[in-house]
Amino acid sequence: MSILIYAEYAPEASGGKFKKVAFELASYAKKVAETLGTTVTAVTINAGDVSELAKYGVDKVLKVNNDKLSGFTAKAYADVIKQAAIKENVKLVLLSSTTDSVYLASFVAVALEAGYASNVVGLPISTSPFLVKRTAFSNKAFNTTEIETEIKVLGLAKNSYGIFETPSTLTQEDFNPIIGENDFGVKVESVEKISGKVSIADADIVVSAGRGLKGPENWGMVEELATVLGAATACSKPVSDLGWRPHGEHVGQTGKPVATNLYIAIGISGAIQHIAGINSSKVKVVINSDPEAPFFKVADYGIVGDAFEIVPKLIEKFKAF
Ligand code: FAD
Repeated sequence: MSILIYAEYAPEASGGKFKKVAFELASYAKKVAETLGTTVTAVTINAGDVSELAKYGVDKVLKVNNDKLSGFTAKAYADVIKQAAIKENVKLVLLSSTTDSVYLASFVAVALEAGYASNVVGLPISTSPFLVKRTAFSNKAFNTTEIETEIKVLGLAKNSYGIFETPSTLTQEDFNPIIGENDFGVKVESVEKISGKVSIADADIVVSAGRGLKGPENWGMVEELATVLGAATACSKPVSDLGWRPHGEHVGQTGKPVATNLYIAIGISGAIQHIAGINSSKVKVVINSDPEAPFFKVADYGIVGDAFEIVPKLIEKFKAF
């Protein structure tokens, strides 16, 4: 009885490589597999070279290559994962927390008549009963969830475990699940904007700015700091509402969630709706001229001062490294 992961692969147009979350999921699965004394099998859909998964402890890959699956379709993908799970007699299926996988996980759970826990953080608390810790209320609280069904589906919270190299000997197998026309009842088209910059979803560091920057003409220093750090740029909601920055950069409760290693907030007050979306980030650095700004309450490091003086100095210092 192996553990099955769905290793997400970005199509050619978006880079043609495994998404970072696939390696985090594999690292996590490996640790769980060691606890349970079992192996890790990954199912991939239209992936290129899968050998990289061996670095992160995957023992076997079921490679599905089918033109019908070139666009993400939750029902069809769930059917593939279900058939892979049945073939491998799997009792634990793991998915990551990208937009696609979160949507997909519930379809997989229904298909396998399995209990599903989303936003899982940390290794299972116990396997009998099967208990996991999850985030709740926009990451403001944790709860413990028990899954009672024989087959279990878990969605691992993004950037909650880390990526660890545990080399394994990988076997690869072509897998041809049966896919029916009924699987394509709903057609989903995704449009990915390719900017050539680091995307918020893949970034280890995010440099984010708010209304404190006064206007779009002042974003040059934010972009420069992001470039020097190899970071993605983000912004608060009013900034995108005002059209200072594209909507794709809006982070927070109603924007993109951010669970990065380093989040730098410049001229952002720290309203509860903003914090809700970025609170899972590991280290938060806040630059704000108001020492009473609420953001300082959740900051790991805070700089009280004028962003227009501080940010150029940071750029200068980082460039010197
Ligand atoms: P402001 O509140 O105007 O804060 C600007 C900050 O910049 C201040 O703290 C000020 O001290 C500082 N500042 C000013 N000048 C300087 C300077 N020279 N140097 C350094 N600092 C300076 N917001 C989000 O961001 N994301 C969301 O997803 C989101 N969802 C929402 C959902 C709902 C239902 C609602 C009601 C609101 C939501 N909001 C969201 C809006 C949120 O409540 C705040 O209004 C918003 O986050 C404030 O944005 P801001 O911090 O950029 O601007």
